[in-house]
Amino acid sequence: MQVIRKTTADLRVPPHLSDYARTRANFKWSDVPNLCEGMGPGGCNIGYACLDRQASGPAADRVALRFIGDGSTTAELNAHDMSYRELAQCASRFTNVLRSLGIGKGDRIFTIMGRAPELYITMMGALRNGTVVSPLFAAFGPEPIATRVNIAEPVALVTTAAIYQRKIAKIRDQLPSVRHVILVDQDAAPGDAAGTVNYRQLMAGVDDDAPIEPTTATDPALLHFTSGTTGTPKGAIHVHGALSMHYITGLYALDLHADDVYWCTADPGWVTGTSYGVIAPLLHGVTAVVDEAEFDAERWYRILADESVTVWYTAPTAIRMLIKAGAELAQRYEFPALRFIASVGEPLNPEAVWWGKKVLGLPIHDNWWQTETGGIMIANTPAFDIKPGSMGRPLPGVDAYVVRHAENGRLTVIEEPDVEGELALKPGWPSMFRGYLHQEDRYQKCFADGLYLTGDLVKRDADGYFWFVGRADDVIKSAGHLIGPFEVESALTDHPAVAEAAVIGKPDPTVGEIVKAFVTVKDGFTADDDLRLELLAHARKRLGAAVAPKEIEFADALPHTRSGKIMRRLLRARELGLPQGDTSTVETDTPIRETSA
Ligand code: AMP
Repeated sequence: MQVIRKTTADLRVPPHLSDYARTRANFKWSDVPNLCEGMGPGGCNIGYACLDRQASGPAADRVALRFIGDGSTTAELNAHDMSYRELAQCASRFTNVLRSLGIGKGDRIFTIMGRAPELYITMMGALRNGTVVSPLFAAFGPEPIATRVNIAEPVALVTTAAIYQRKIAKIRDQLPSVRHVILVDQDAAPGDAAGTVNYRQLMAGVDDDAPIEPTTATDPALLHFTSGTTGTPKGAIHVHGALSMHYITGLYALDLHADDVYWCTADPGWVTGTSYGVIAPLLHGVTAVVDEAEFDAERWYRILADESVTVWYTAPTAIRMLIKAGAELAQRYEFPALRFIASVGEPLNPEAVWWGKKVLGLPIHDNWWQTETGGIMIANTPAFDIKPGSMGRPLPGVDAYVVRHAENGRLTVIEEPDVEGELALKPGWPSMFRGYLHQEDRYQKCFADGLYLTGDLVKRDADGYFWFVGRADDVIKSAGHLIGPFEVESALTDHPAVAEAAVIGKPDPTVGEIVKAFVTVKDGFTADDDLRLELLAHARKRLGAAVAPKEIEFADALPHTRSGKIMRRLLRARELGLPQGDTSTVETDTPIRETSA
């Protein structure tokens, strides 16, 4: 295997992490600088560290967020800047808005909107108020929204008039906890949608000065939903103290320096877009680019070039889509400012790493983490040699193990290199999730023998590099989004024609996996193309495009275990033409009947 060798002399900027072994050996979380000193003893608040602190320091007039409007064409990027001072002032006003509505510490609110300035202001204003924010992906359909709202019981939703009318108005009576719906649109007047209030009017009615709520490191700050194989989604609770992790990983994994122009392409509806699209860049006082539009290869090259992006954090699906768009398109642009590219969320194939080096002049640096870890755990940092295909090595402060589950329920740590096992982490890093809201059992099941079990299968090589093998469970990663099969199956079985549904991830060269459903139909219904289209549309309407299945295959029966569980693994093995493993527990199954696509 060809390794990409690095020497510090090759790097344009001296990296924050240059001596991995020494930094790891000496690292203590208690040595991380206290970014909330100004709050007094014990005070800790993400909003304070990101904004109040910056607005009263040398970063005050630096551009904090540079929004590129979604109405802008690729020919003319229409940017709107907010300095740290302005953002801090707006966030502070929003803190007052929440107070004026009687929303306080420990209450929860949801944001359901695109990457507009109001999203960032709302998040920061709420964090300053000690109010827990749950950013939801705007492309979710009404069903995933209702499920998550009913778990978290937020008192308010902050959204747009269009999203409200399309997705929320019709389910509003199923969301009893929601006292206020705040519409951020400029022209959405109260009364446009009954029972809503207008963000701009609320903001105009309060003053700038809102003292920070005296939160501490263990107070909840964010709630990020993630999916498991079974049951409802899980709301991972993150605390204000997580900011130390966002700060350190911004330093070591992303190598942020104050003069960087940084672009994280993830949406804050997913954990990456919050930890690294909002918090880490603001903690470091850099300028963060926010593209309000969706992926477009030419537009992205244009942004990288025109905004002189120096550090770029993106995802394998996006890189593969750029590769698909062809090298000629990239070659029309130059990226002299770009010095570091990182990627997360799904396996980064070696070809993508090399493509970066060839076409953009820099290899792509893979890193690994998940909703529960709150921050980057394993990384290829600027000074590391890259072994393309590997996720890198654990960062200072992170202890990662490969473990095997013994029969007696205990774990054995696998010391030998290149042996597959589950990735386990030693708790203690500051952005570790503190629970799944209202689901203590599921939280407890993540731990054994003092280690946190990630659900990922990996190998570690003799040099300490980790290699992703696959998931230990049935969750699906599609375009970087984690999708719980159960949520999709439930939406399908709600259709009157569906008897049973089983959902798997089917490998796809661009988005990693697509959601594929196997469906049996009830007597009296015909499994034909009309029904297939109807089911695809039904799922899309309920779940939203990001979650709904892209393929549906009708089956006469689905394989079950004797205890009645559908064996998704078997369906997946058959789909891929892989060995089916031990099928001795299969109770019912008949061959899948193909219908033409
Ligand atoms: P999420 O909680 O949605 O961020 O998804 C986390 C999951 O994404 C992990 O548990 C992995 O299965 C997968 N993942 C994240 N980063 C990587 C990576 N660099 N390589 C392979 N899989 C990854």
